[in-house]
Amino acid sequence: MRILLAEDDKDLSRQLKLALADAGYVVDHAPDGEEAHYLGANEPYDAVILDLGLPKIDGVSVLERWRREGMAVPVLILTARSAWSEKVAGFDAGADDYLTKPFHTEELLARLRALLRRTAGHATSTLQSGSLRLDPRAARASVDGEPLRLTSLEYRLLHYVLMHQGRVISRTELVEHLYDQDFDRDSNTIEVFIGRLRKKIGPDRIETVRGLGYRIVPLAGEA
Ligand code: CA
Repeated sequence: MRILLAEDDKDLSRQLKLALADAGYVVDHAPDGEEAHYLGANEPYDAVILDLGLPKIDGVSVLERWRREGMAVPVLILTARSAWSEKVAGFDAGADDYLTKPFHTEELLARLRALLRRTAGHATSTLQSGSLRLDPRAARASVDGEPLRLTSLEYRLLHYVLMHQGRVISRTELVEHLYDQDFDRDSNTIEVFIGRLRKKIGPDRIETVRGLGYRIVPLAGEA
């Protein structure tokens, strides 16, 4: 899952980037409203964490522009304490959830998980395909109850395909959602990572749909 973090407070940004990376997300950071708007309009994020008090263009205006431009990504806004009018303006502009500063990182991560889950139409937090399970709260995955040892990229890949099971996911989509903007995005590397993942979860759980991409499928007898 790829997240845009728009926050101008340096310490908070650093802290959140680390926590998000630890939780298995790829994070792009925008320190002001102008860059936030640009990145949000041009990169396919799974969710955005948007501070409303941003330099250059304020958060509410950024959000209004995105929504006007038809950008439907879920947005969690960060507001200053007791600024209830800011919160209302944020929701009116199209925010999906909010957190008031200061907040615990754990709460931000929990709200983000809930937001991603709701967006993908999942009611429970554990993702499952047959006996393959992934728990985003613990950032762990298992097959038949046996924990899998995954690298962070393999974990992100598995998380993404499980989140979108039931449809074919193209290599381009995977590249866009698994790497941050600075990564050398060669979509051929995805095939390598799919191959490694297959070795760990079993060869038949990720199906290659020729010319289109990949799809996660339960094993025969597991559905
Ligand atoms: Ca701020």
